[in-house]
Amino acid sequence: MIEIEFKRMTGFHKIENLWKIEYELKTLQPFITQSAYREASEEIEVMLRKEIPKDLDFVPLVVDDRAIITGNSIKGLFRHIISAQLTQAGQEVCVQEVKLEGTQPEERKEQCKPDNPCFVCTWFGTASRQGALHFSFLKSVEKIENILLASPIPMIAMRDDYKALKAKRGKGAFALIAPVKEGVVFKGWIKGENLSDEIIGAIKEIQEWSKRGFLQLGGLKTRGFGAVEMKINRIERYKASPLELEKAYEGNELESFLRECHNAYKKLLKK
Ligand SMILES: [Zn+2]
Repeated sequence: MIEIEFKRMTGFHKIENLWKIEYELKTLQPFITQSAYREASEEIEVMLRKEIPKDLDFVPLVVDDRAIITGNSIKGLFRHIISAQLTQAGQEVCVQEVKLEGTQPEERKEQCKPDNPCFVCTWFGTASRQGALHFSFLKSVEKIENILLASPIPMIAMRDDYKALKAKRGKGAFALIAPVKEGVVFKGWIKGENLSDEIIGAIKEIQEWSKRGFLQLGGLKTRGFGAVEMKINRIERYKASPLELEKAYEGNELESFLRECHNAYKKLLKK
């Protein structure tokens, strides 16, 4: 393993600049965000206006009248992809203790000390200190009743993760899923403090994965659900003190800024 040489951030005691990365995710496959709770599944049965022979086992997470993807699920997936890429490149990345369950992968170092965080801990935080990236909830642009797949999908032989579901319903391994359909757009943003080109480039790298169908979120990913395409629409950089918009990247300027950042991140993968 080699000590990763990345651009250190200014530190948490001082905010030089604030970033807002506005982006969207478009579903490329049916998409299910969360297992059902009773009331939600009844409401969605009504929306589908169908006599369903069995309770719905999976329905999307809905807040007000929009389907939702939690910021936490995005953050976790981004952290995983970036950690795994840097590890494959031979860079030093730690494993969070909460994930360990007694096994330490050979290629990963122990959880970082707060005074010497690895690239991933710098930007995503550790158990004891929040990171410099904050992920908003993503909301569907359209109302939930317009974005559900017309008919629920029956499916058998659930994965181990969903054993709880079987026990709850007591109806064996048959499940009925009411996913969001393909082509549905969710919008949200990432807030960042003192971001480097490298971490913005890492987010751009995830966008590249998504264009090829390699970014999957939500449940039932091994069963043809959850691929989303990511698109960064606008990036704003603010001076923090006093708050002042310094730069808004859009269109061609956004493209070339993202290309520069991506190159900076790719250098980390080639050391
Ligand atoms: Zn770390």
